[in-house]
Amino acid sequence: MQHKLPRRSFLKSGATAALGAGLTGQVTAAQQADRSAATVREPAREIPIVEEIDVVVCGAGPAGVAAAVAAARSGAKTRLIEVNGCLGGVWTAGLLSNIIDCGNKTGIMQEMLDELDKRNARIYGRKYDVEKTKLLLEDMCGEAGVRVRLHTRVAAAVKDDSNRLSIVLTESKSGREAYAGKVFVDATGDGDLGALAGCGFDYGRSDKDEGQPMSFIVQLVGLDLERIRPFVSGLPDEKDWGATKGRLAGEIKRGSGFDPSYAHPTLFHLNHGLFTLMANHEYHVKGFDADQLTEATMRGRREVHRMIDGLRSLGGVWKDIAICVSPERIGVRESRRIHGLYQVTGDDLVNGARFDDAVCRSTFSVDVHSTDPDTSKGLGNEGLRAKPYDIPYRALIARDVDGLLLAGRCISGDFFAHASYRVTGNAVPMGEAAGAAAALAARTNRLPQEVPWSDIQKSIEKNSKVA
Ligand SMILES: Cc1cc2nc3c(=O)[nH]c(=O)nc-3n(C[C@H](O)[C@H](O)[C@H](O)COP(=O)(O)OP(=O)(O)OC[C@H]3O[C@@H](n4cnc5c(N)ncnc54)[C@H](O)[C@@H]3O)c2cc1C
Repeated sequence: MQHKLPRRSFLKSGATAALGAGLTGQVTAAQQADRSAATVREPAREIPIVEEIDVVVCGAGPAGVAAAVAAARSGAKTRLIEVNGCLGGVWTAGLLSNIIDCGNKTGIMQEMLDELDKRNARIYGRKYDVEKTKLLLEDMCGEAGVRVRLHTRVAAAVKDDSNRLSIVLTESKSGREAYAGKVFVDATGDGDLGALAGCGFDYGRSDKDEGQPMSFIVQLVGLDLERIRPFVSGLPDEKDWGATKGRLAGEIKRGSGFDPSYAHPTLFHLNHGLFTLMANHEYHVKGFDADQLTEATMRGRREVHRMIDGLRSLGGVWKDIAICVSPERIGVRESRRIHGLYQVTGDDLVNGARFDDAVCRSTFSVDVHSTDPDTSKGLGNEGLRAKPYDIPYRALIARDVDGLLLAGRCISGDFFAHASYRVTGNAVPMGEAAGAAAALAARTNRLPQEVPWSDIQKSIEKNSKVA
């Protein structure tokens, strides 16, 4: 589905609070039921510009951290703004613990993997220790000279007369603040910055307002790997992943009396007696709707507790199972896909597209988690067999607003392409490219589309710590 500007119209200024109903600002029950019935005019106010900087990266998931580190290493004064209390996005706040499609990557992705190894934080090749990863990302930002601001939400965007993004406004415990930048990177995953700046975007399938489900991931303790091996996905000696997941789904049903909302539940082993469980799907919810996010979070939590209580009630290998931590944020697979100068398509994947401005080569399949539980609660490629394909730099440049780059899952692509390129082994090189490009554009006073890809590539190579 194509979306133009955000539906809500913003009343930007007004000396007094002209309240739609009852000038007290109180909302009646009827208005509560239909929130479009009343509006409030927010009084204009002076917001302090707390920083004027070269590059502002919004969102510090895998893409945003890589973007900020690359920009700072290229010599740009760089600010990284993150709403959570840690860096890493779905890697950490979402408890993901599994990096897909990192095997063929160089640059910052490989560097992160090497660093995880050095810190004894990489497990089974592509799993990782969540807590050590939080620290690693902070160390990388610190060493590169990135100025990090946690606990801060990007809440609005201001453009100049030439349609160029010039300021982001944030909300935090310090109040409303403004950051002025030369170039911005939207790495919010949900495309918040692009949408706030007025970019058009797509969401879900082209014919239906229906995107991939969210998942409430938890970490577990109280399990003995050797005794529950048949139910653990991704072990080196695993023969048939479908059978592993089927056995786990069977145990969940046996214990709790219901089929999990995700038909292929995944239990990963991490170190220190920790396991990660991804067994929940939340359907028909959007990552950019706070009510839906709230409902999905609470429903997901409730379902996972019921599953774990059910498993524990079986005794035996499950007798001590317990949830030790739940995510700061429910995992959002799909949100806004901001319109860029190029849209990566399902055809590009099927044809194994090659581009002169290739940021990286994705080797991951089309991975559509069912968007409709009445049809299926599993996943599949919906008949699209992807060959390794390139993600072009142009898909990282916002089409509708100047001075804005995109990185991670909010880049420009269609439903099927997103179902593949969104994984974190691609998000990191996308971030690295966006950050290096932003730094070059800022230094030379150009727009991102005016910087030749070959220059960006040279800059990435020059600053890379890994061949
Ligand atoms: C349940 C689930 C399972 C998955 N499984 C895998 C897997 O096994 N392996 C894999 O590699 N990938 C997997 N993925 C996909 C992958 O995790 C994401 O697509 C990936 O995180 C993309 O990285 P990102 O940096 O674009 O976004 P995110 O990780 O979502 O990071 C975005 C960051 O921006 C912040 N942010 C958002 N809005 C604002 C705002 N307004 N102001 C400030 N900060 C903001 C968020 O807090 C977050 O930290 C999975 C995703 C989900 C949800």
